[in-house]
Order: sequence, then C-alpha cells, then structure tokens
Amino acid sequence: MFVETQKTLKLFKRESKLGVCHTVRRKNIMYIFKCDTCGDTFKKPKNMIDPDRIKKVHKHFCKKCDL
Ligand SMILES: [Zn+2]
Repeated sequence: MFVETQKTLKLFKRESKLGVCHTVRRKNIMYIFKCDTCGDTFKKPKNMIDPDRIKKVHKHFCKKCDL
C-alpha cells in the first residue's frame, strides 16, 4: 500500500568545463510504500511511477515479492 510522499534534497558537486566546482541541488520526490505481502517498506522515485497508478492500484509489492 502507499504510505507517504517524501521530499529529499540531494547535493552533489559538479565540475564545469572551466574547472570550476559548483554545488548542484537536486530535489527528489520519493513515494514510500509498504509491501502488501511481507510488510517491508520501500521507496520508489516519483519519475518511475505514473501518479494515476497510485490512485488505481492499492496493492504494492517490494522487489522480493513482485515477481
Ligand atoms: Zn514484500
């Protein structure tokens, strides 16, 4: 089942062509699910999931159970 939406902010350093280092921020939205078979919680990034599917599909399975 769907549990919650979690927002994370990732910081990473990237070097430009001129050799200057910048800190780049990337916002990430993760959906937290609880496996309906074993009860494990797991995360999936928002961009991997169709938001309509979350509303329609009420059961979600982790990698171990989703075969
Ligand atoms: Zn499971």
